[in-house]
Amino acid sequence: MEFWFTEKQTKDFGITMRVKQTYHSEKTEFQQLDMVETAEFGNMLLLDGMVMTTERDEFVYHEMVAHVPLYTHPNPRHVLVVGGGDGGVIREILKHPEVEKATLVDIDGKVIEYSKKYLPTIAGKLEDPRVEVKVDDGFMHIAESENAYDVIMVDSTEPVGPAVNLFTKGFYEGISKALKEDGLFVAQTDNPWFHQDVIRKAFKDVKETFPVTRLYTANIPTYPSGLWTFTMGSKKYDPLETPEERFGNIDTKYYTPEIHRGAFLLPKFVKDLTE
Ligand code: SAM
Repeated sequence: MEFWFTEKQTKDFGITMRVKQTYHSEKTEFQQLDMVETAEFGNMLLLDGMVMTTERDEFVYHEMVAHVPLYTHPNPRHVLVVGGGDGGVIREILKHPEVEKATLVDIDGKVIEYSKKYLPTIAGKLEDPRVEVKVDDGFMHIAESENAYDVIMVDSTEPVGPAVNLFTKGFYEGISKALKEDGLFVAQTDNPWFHQDVIRKAFKDVKETFPVTRLYTANIPTYPSGLWTFTMGSKKYDPLETPEERFGNIDTKYYTPEIHRGAFLLPKFVKDLTE
């Protein structure tokens, strides 16, 4: 008897994977949490039936959320991650020696607990001395922060449930306030095949809030459509102007200085969403 998991990415299209075993299933205070082992992608975290991260392809997303902004900023010392309870973005942030403190604010402590237990290669750095983990609503944390961070990364779920507020212009305005005068942020902004509306609205809202706004992409096989976008808002620094000498020689599997530049080259149907 074989067991298969299907994530319906639209009402008429989905991705399906053979599941070898289920480690944990729980309705937390905020969402349905499932941790399973898949035959193709290893251990996988699902929230409300949506693929959050898998052992095999997680490096693409986590490297692209972290290294593009951290190499765009010339001296990122204080970094904030909103969401990111699986720990992957924190692991990548810590590869930058200039980062003195990385704060993670995830609304659901169960994500952190079960990621540590079943995704050790992803969540293994959450107890690093440079890391502070808070279980709280990222929207409230941002509202209470001012002139505090050099770089902010919004590694949230889709704009449903507890993450709805994290895709509003008010949130981006709050991020601007929480950032230092030359700060910048990146948010994951879904895919251009099934959620063009999310990208179009996020880019417009960020562009009305920040002087520099850029969209970049990456290939993530287990995310809806396989093509993922990230929106950057910056008060001063442009990711396309990162000087060659800024790039370090950190250990990565997807990110390179060439990918840093190339990720901002958009297919026409994606570029159209930014105009
Ligand atoms: N990489 C994934 C993606 O692009 O969909 C996101 C992974 S990460 C596990 C998403 C996290 O966002 C979850 O742990 C969830 O608990 C958290 N989250 C959702 N809404 C939040 C909020 N308002 N404040 C803080 N964390 C939130």
